[in-house]
Amino acid sequence: PETVERIAAGEVVTRPASVVTELVENSLDAGTSSVEVVVENAGLDLIRVADDGHGMTETDARLAVERHATSKIGGVEDVERVATLGFRGEALPSIAQVARLELTTKAAESGAAGTRVVVDGGEKTTGPAGRAVGTTISVTDLFANTPVRRKSLATPKREFARVSETVSDYALTHPDVRFSLTHDGRTVLSTPGSGSYTDAILGVYNREVAGQSTEFGQEDEKESGDDQPSNGVSVSGLVVYPSITRSTPAHVTTAINGRALDDPTVRKAVTNGYGTLLPDDRYPIAVVDVSLPPERVDVNVHPSKDEVAFADPDEVAEAVEQAIADALATQDL
Ligand code: ADP
Ligand code: MG
Repeated sequence: PETVERIAAGEVVTRPASVVTELVENSLDAGTSSVEVVVENAGLDLIRVADDGHGMTETDARLAVERHATSKIGGVEDVERVATLGFRGEALPSIAQVARLELTTKAAESGAAGTRVVVDGGEKTTGPAGRAVGTTISVTDLFANTPVRRKSLATPKREFARVSETVSDYALTHPDVRFSLTHDGRTVLSTPGSGSYTDAILGVYNREVAGQSTEFGQEDEKESGDDQPSNGVSVSGLVVYPSITRSTPAHVTTAINGRALDDPTVRKAVTNGYGTLLPDDRYPIAVVDVSLPPERVDVNVHPSKDEVAFADPDEVAEAVEQAIADALATQDL
């Protein structure tokens, strides 16, 4: 493959968790109600993500593994207003640069047969495949031909921890979607897709944590228009009462317009929302999904998409801090 393509691939696909992120985001973009993630050997032997989203026609499936073949941007002006998680058309070709990629898919309009596309060492083969509407993508032998990248990875245990955190983050911030993660045959987490943050946190944490929590945001939006924050910033999620805390900030799960990412502005605002309820050197467990008009947030800052730039960070911080403080104020202390 071209050097330029290899460099581009390096920006997107640095470790098993980045593959999982891209595949899960594609499933969510396809409107799936279920995301099943199966991983073997921390993702180095196998990463398989199956969804029941809208799937692809044969033409779309062939195109999907070509560079910059995104179906998600119509014109130049769209880049400014990205509403889907993917938009660069880089992920699948980048993954195919550093692994064997097999895609089976069927769109509703495809009739009886689905399509299988395999990219292995730059060779692409396409054929029919039987399956229901949706998409399954299997990534095997990750970094087998890029020994330097493989060497730069942490231990399998740590790499799997990142995979697990990635799936947890999406499961928690998308309670309406059913998620499961299986590692070497063992089910690590599973959420029901009921739409309830409490149900989602039960699937990721445990009964004690779920029982000590309260949801916020969702009903407010439907019931009243009057306490809507300005500029279309809305916040929903769940806070765990400060009776249960953690020694690291890793349990504050945040998403911006559905993309799970660890945004420092939001994380700090969450802590501020707890205020003095939080003991020194302790961190809360919380899930916060911030929604704002696409033109008020730039997700295009970095190819790895783990950073955003807000038009007005203060307005976001205020909305988050207020939502957390209000939710905690309803608790009987
Ligand atoms: P992007 O998400 O930036 O558009 P990707 O390389 O991640 O680029 O995916 C390329 C294209 O393949 C997408 O635009 C989409 O049309 C299609 N695609 C990928 N995964 C799925 C999926 N799970 N379901 C439906 N279509 C998909
Ligand atoms: Mg994508």
